[in-house]
Parts: sequence; structure tokens; C-alpha cells
Amino acid sequence: MGKIILTGDRPTGRLHVGHYVGSLKRRVELQNSGQFDEIYIMIADAQALTDNADNPEKVRQNIIEVALDYLACGLDPAKSTLFIQSQIPELCEMTFYYMDLVTVSRLQRNPTVKSEIQMRNFETSIPVGFFTYPISQAADITAFKATTVPVGEDQAPMIEQTREIVHKFNTVYGGNLVEPDILLPDNKACLRLPGIDGKAKMSKSLGNCIYLSDSEEEIQKKIMSMYTDPNHLRVQDPGQVEGNPVFIYLDAFCTDAHFEEYLPEYQNLDELKAHYMRGGLGDVKVKKFLNNVIQEELRPIRERRREIAKDIPAVYKILEEGSIRAEKKAAETLAEMKRAMKINYFEDKELIAEQAARFKSESEG
Ligand code: ATP
Ligand code: MG
Repeated sequence: MGKIILTGDRPTGRLHVGHYVGSLKRRVELQNSGQFDEIYIMIADAQALTDNADNPEKVRQNIIEVALDYLACGLDPAKSTLFIQSQIPELCEMTFYYMDLVTVSRLQRNPTVKSEIQMRNFETSIPVGFFTYPISQAADITAFKATTVPVGEDQAPMIEQTREIVHKFNTVYGGNLVEPDILLPDNKACLRLPGIDGKAKMSKSLGNCIYLSDSEEEIQKKIMSMYTDPNHLRVQDPGQVEGNPVFIYLDAFCTDAHFEEYLPEYQNLDELKAHYMRGGLGDVKVKKFLNNVIQEELRPIRERRREIAKDIPAVYKILEEGSIRAEKKAAETLAEMKRAMKINYFEDKELIAEQAARFKSESEG
């Protein structure tokens, strides 16, 4: 069996450095590794509408932003199929059948959905579509027979749910769906990058992001105003690196080479952390270093993005062609599913013959 990747992002905003370290950077590496037979990257507009039903324009505007971020980071349409979720109607059909295999209480247990409901103040009125989006995500993954889903840690419950649905489908219907594996970042700091406000997760919906497309000035402003250790008031005070976003970002982004280039008085991050914990190292100095590191990483992405944005119709064309390719694959899987569920009445010659014989014998008997 071939190795297949499916992953994606919601077009609820431009992509940020959390996406980059949590998933996007890895995707590009995997794409270029040559180890995968098929790669599908989905812009999840239908999922974005589950909590933005009253704001379709936001979703519509952000599709191109996400596509530009993809291409700027190095996703290559010659190697990866980039497509838009809503253009694949088969996914809705699959979702509808998967809904029969999942209980309400199982959905209620999903910790990511639980915290997202809280974050969006949905407690008293959860849209059904939002509540059930993990089921639709199972359709997204299984439609492409994905073996591997490179995502951030918040997606682990979705992959678990998908595996359960696949198992149930295959057991009940004798189907041939594939149980996917999650592929998390190796670097612990990248699992769930916090926001610049120190909140648990950098998230488009929380507005605490450094975007891949931010200008040099915007990035610098955000980094210099970042939340750090609130008890580290004076330079001489000992500081905490644990849970301190500035140090978590350094964990995610910096290498020893960055020290050589921008902060040669330290060999590596361990030495810098030790000094901060001892006291005598100010936040401003650490932030300036972080700014240098992040600017170096984001500059080429921003410049490529600007180049690609010169031909927007070409970007839509890439998405259109990708969507056509993706639909073909999803339609094949759906046809197999319907065969397994025995709801392929018109191609089931045996069924028709069987029923004909039954009615014939009834009328004769
Ligand atoms: P929204 O607030 O609309 O849900 P989001 O910022 O959470 O947006 P998604 O589109 O939901 O972004 O997530 C896309 C991918 O990026 C997923 O694989 C997710 O795990 C990963 N991801 C999102 N935020 C982070 C983060 N802060 N750290 C690491 N990975 C992240
Ligand atoms: Mg999210």
C-alpha cells in the first residue's frame, strides 16, 4: 500500500508561525522527501463555515491568503494536490454516512472541540455542524485513503476519532478504509506554539499571532511586546523559561548557528536559558535575538509570497486543477464505500436478479 498524506488548514485568516512550525514546515519536508506517493493539502472552507456561518465573506477572502502562504512556504502543485474542501461534494456524502457510526456522547468527549466551544462562547448554542466537524474531518482523511496526517497536537483527538470510524466502518460493512497515523512535530515546542500573549495556543481566532506575511516592522513590534515571565521585573531578577513564550519560540526556531551570527557571547540556547534563570539577563536582549532569528526565517517566505501574488488568477487555477484531481480520488473511495454498504443498487446486478426472482416466484406461487 502506498503512503498518502492528507492535511490542511481552515481559511479563517492568514497562516501564522504556529502553523509553520506545527505542520507547514514539516509538510514541505515530507513533500520533498520523495517518500510519499500522493499528497493532498486541503483548504478547509466548509469546516471554517461551521463556526463562521454568518461570515462567509471572511472565509472567501482567506482562501487565497492561505493558498499564497502554502506556495510561499514551498508547497509545490507539481508534487502536492492543493484543493478546496467545498469543491468535493463526496466529502459531505461520506460525512452523512459516518454520522451513523458515532454517538453524541463520543463527540462530547472530544477535548479539542470542548475547549473550542468555550473559546467561541458557544456553550449555550453550539451549531450542529461545528459539533460534528470531527466526523467531517474523518471524511476528509479517509476519502484520500491517507496513511499519514501531519498536524499539530490539537488535532490528535480528531485522528483518534477517525481511526474509530474507520474501524467501525470496516467491521460493520466489511469495508477497506485506511486507519491514518498522526505525525506530530519532533520538537516539543512546536506541538502547540503559544500566542504572543502567552495564551495556550497561537490561533487565528484569538488574534495572538505572528503571521507569515507580517512585515518586518510588524514582526518586530509583536516580538518586542511579547508576554514573558511576569515576575521578571528587573534585569537582575531570576527569570523563568518554563512556559515563557519568548523561550518557547526560541526552542522552536533557533539553532546554534543563530547564536554565532547574532549573539556570539553564548554558545547555545541552554547557556542563554541558564543566564536568564540565574538573573542578570534582560527581556529586551532576548527579544532582540528572537526577532533576528524569526526575521531570518520569515524574510524569504514573505518575499516569495509577494512574487507569487503578482499572478492571482494562476493561484486560483492551481486550486481549481487540484480540486478536480482531488474529487476524482474521493469519488473512487465513495463508490467503494457504497459498494461495501450495499447502497449501490443500480450497479448491483445480483440484487436486481434476486428481487426479480423473488417477485416472480411470489406471483407464480
Ligand atoms: P482557527 O482558530 O480558525 O481554528 P487555527 O489557528 O487553530 O485556526 P487551524 O486551521 O485550525 O488553525 O489549524 C491548522 C493546522 O495548524 C493544524 O494542523 C493545527 O494542528 C496546526 N496548528 C494550529 N495552531 C497551532 C499552534 N499554535 N501550534 C502548533 N500547531 C498549530
Ligand atoms: Mg483550529
